[in-house]
Amino acid sequence: MTKLCYDMIKFLDLEKINNRFRDEIDSRIKTILDKGWYLQGEENEIFAQNFAKFCGTKYCIGVANGLDAINLIIRAYGFKNGDEIIVPSNTYIATILAISENGCTPVLVEPDINTYNINPDLIEDKITPKTKAIIVVHLYGQAVQMDKIWEIAKKYNLKIIEDSAQAHGAGVNVGGELKKVGNLGDASAFSFYPGKNLGCMGDGGCVTTNDEELFKKVKAIANYGSDRKYHHIYKGVNSRLDEIQAAVLDVKLKYLDEDNKKRREISKYYRENIRNPKIILPKTYYENSHVWHVFTVRTDKRDEFQKYLTDNGIQTIIHYPTPPHKQGAYKEWNHLSYPISEEIHRTIISIPISPVMTKDEVEKVVEVINEY
Ligand SMILES: *Cc1c(COP(=O)(O)O)cnc(C)c1O
Repeated sequence: MTKLCYDMIKFLDLEKINNRFRDEIDSRIKTILDKGWYLQGEENEIFAQNFAKFCGTKYCIGVANGLDAINLIIRAYGFKNGDEIIVPSNTYIATILAISENGCTPVLVEPDINTYNINPDLIEDKITPKTKAIIVVHLYGQAVQMDKIWEIAKKYNLKIIEDSAQAHGAGVNVGGELKKVGNLGDASAFSFYPGKNLGCMGDGGCVTTNDEELFKKVKAIANYGSDRKYHHIYKGVNSRLDEIQAAVLDVKLKYLDEDNKKRREISKYYRENIRNPKIILPKTYYENSHVWHVFTVRTDKRDEFQKYLTDNGIQTIIHYPTPPHKQGAYKEWNHLSYPISEEIHRTIISIPISPVMTKDEVEKVVEVINEY
């Protein structure tokens, strides 16, 4: 096709996404300015309550970012000194960094090539007497199939920690009912980085759980280890969600289900209309509850495909180009081979998907890909 002069289709138009809520956000920020209260106030309480309700958990605590959320859960459970934690080999590096940061050993388990989520059938072989927990990562917006993982955790007395940073609102079917991520394990970490399905206007994150003791501990550790003012029971850190971010999130939370539904519609359109033998489309076993944080396709000549899309006005991102075990931060793993993870990283590319994409844009993406 010829290079037409239409505007670049953005991977994610954050300005457009947030401008839909400009009036509501303005008014909430004005309230904060009027009150002059910026940390650990009403906005945090309201948002934490609403987000816990959204996930179906008893507790939620706002923290500074998603990495801290994972880190705080591991620390609050007391895992350290070479305790082993099972984690998928193809996650975003933050999940693994949080394990390392606590002095624990990340034990990498390969994903299922069809779902890109951890392969539950490979977990049991990796369990040793030192194993303390399994971290499931609901990658790209699709909840991990939990049945087998629940069984394994029970059998070996392991904690299940969720990394839900890419899956706000996603869930699994339990007895005909939707059980949401954030409520599928012992504790869950969320990120509210601006580009996530629920994103704030800076950094933010939270921990959800039904475990009262863990809730209290995370809350204290995240606030200088203090359970009440100037009373420090842990050598804590400063990891708090500020009031402005909590207010922004509380506004956007109301629209999250609707936005996720739009992502599902675009995804369905892509999967029904992209017809190109060179392109492998993503599969889902949860048609009604996948939240399509990103829409990934795989292709053998990924870099050539990416250039083709750029030349034709479509912005793409690669989630992710290099697996954690090949990163400089983990030199001790560089010689290891995780072939499924490597194959995914070699071939994967994410095309635009967002609640503000127009029908024309979606059709254009399909047309350009079908002509590749
Ligand atoms: C974004 C993300 C994180 C980290 O969140 P931050 O808020 O950027 O610290 C962790 N895990 C996964 C899977 C993510 O996508």
